[in-house]
Amino acid sequence: MTGLRIGQGYDVHRLVDGRPLILGGVTIPYERGLDGHSDADVLTHALMDALAGAAGLGDIGVLFPDTDSAYRDISSLKLLEAVGNYLKEKGFALVNADVTLVAQAPKIGPYKARMRENLARALGVDPAQISVKATTEEGLGFTGSGAGMSSMAVALVEQCSPAEE
Ligand code: MG
Repeated sequence: MTGLRIGQGYDVHRLVDGRPLILGGVTIPYERGLDGHSDADVLTHALMDALAGAAGLGDIGVLFPDTDSAYRDISSLKLLEAVGNYLKEKGFALVNADVTLVAQAPKIGPYKARMRENLARALGVDPAQISVKATTEEGLGFTGSGAGMSSMAVALVEQCSPAEE
């Protein structure tokens, strides 16, 4: 089958003391960081799930199980690169992706360009193909209280060649 395929991703991580805050591969100065098995880069995780979903490859929990010690504290950009390579092997090329971070604080505006560059480099695409946005939830819910952050993403891929057997 050829053609365009869309995927969505969603992820949540808890904010805790004593962890760095890493979003889109950028370490952002903040009083707390996201908790998780890897570097807990919630934004990159949502993007990976959108890509995996678009290509019908399952989700990142299947691709990179958190029971595997190889992934402890690993940079999520490395995992994103692996997802990108996997898509290429299956004959998919990214058309574009759009990622939204939901967080009450800190402001990520100054870091967005670097995030896009990091994500694009990991996938071997142009930063223009990746959009990074952020919003708050007006103080409501778990993001509003600062208990955690969430992220959602959509990705459009095109099947350019038949999957390699
Ligand atoms: Mg995650």
